[in-house]
Amino acid sequence: MSARLADGLRRIGRAALDVLLPPQCLACDVPVDAPGHLCAACFAEAGFITAPRCAACGAPFGRAAEGGPARLCRGCVQDRPPWGEARGALRYDGLARRIILPFKYGDRPELAHGLAALMAQAGAALLREADLLVPVPLHRARLRARRYNQAALLARALGRRTGLPMLPDALRRRRATAALGELAAAARHAELAGAIAVHPARGGRIAGRRVLLIDDVLTSGATASACTLALRAAGAAGVNVLVAARVPDPRMSDARLSDAAMARPPLFAGRHPAAADGADGA
Ligand SMILES: [Zn+2]
Ligand SMILES: [Zn+2]
Repeated sequence: MSARLADGLRRIGRAALDVLLPPQCLACDVPVDAPGHLCAACFAEAGFITAPRCAACGAPFGRAAEGGPARLCRGCVQDRPPWGEARGALRYDGLARRIILPFKYGDRPELAHGLAALMAQAGAALLREADLLVPVPLHRARLRARRYNQAALLARALGRRTGLPMLPDALRRRRATAALGELAAAARHAELAGAIAVHPARGGRIAGRRVLLIDDVLTSGATASACTLALRAAGAAGVNVLVAARVPDPRMSDARLSDAAMARPPLFAGRHPAAADGADGA
């Protein structure tokens, strides 16, 4: 088959698919121009995180003065995370949850592409500095139940966009950890201590590399901290963190970040107890 004919058939196939399945907004069912886009109403509602924000954990500030000269939130002044910088594309609010909960629990892996596009914008500086993308791992049991690791899908989509290599099995969970949503910060760190390790066969790919750790939601940072410590122990030259959504106020990361505080989409009500977890550790 000639290249021109193949190209023509591909275009016809694509057009037929577009007629059958017009692309829908990332967060609702309104038709949009291209897959992975937000409709005008959802775009207006989206809590894109821009400066001012914490230089370490990416939490958005109400005003620039909040961060002081070091541009750090109160939590990071008290207890600086082990990674360099973290960035999130969206505040983890109602709209972000309408995308991320179906992505994570509703068997909608294709939402990774739209989320990765938002992450690529928010994390452009971190992506430029990175040598390697590494997703936060799921424990085998959760991977079996869910069939995919949402962080790995985001990392793969980002790798495609940027050409950066992605190492899906660089990290692994040595044991299953409890859902972290209900635990206070100190308990989260204790639950995760030693639970995440670099895959013994992957150490050589990590040593000397600047790693960008990828996850869907950053809540308390306990999971990202455990991953960072494991990567640094394997000799990573640096670790930054890029997530789709950031819980706006780290002080809300404990008891107050329960689903009681934020409405859950009715589709998922009662079906996924783990959805109460702000995604840290899930
Ligand atoms: Zn929409
Ligand atoms: Zn911070």
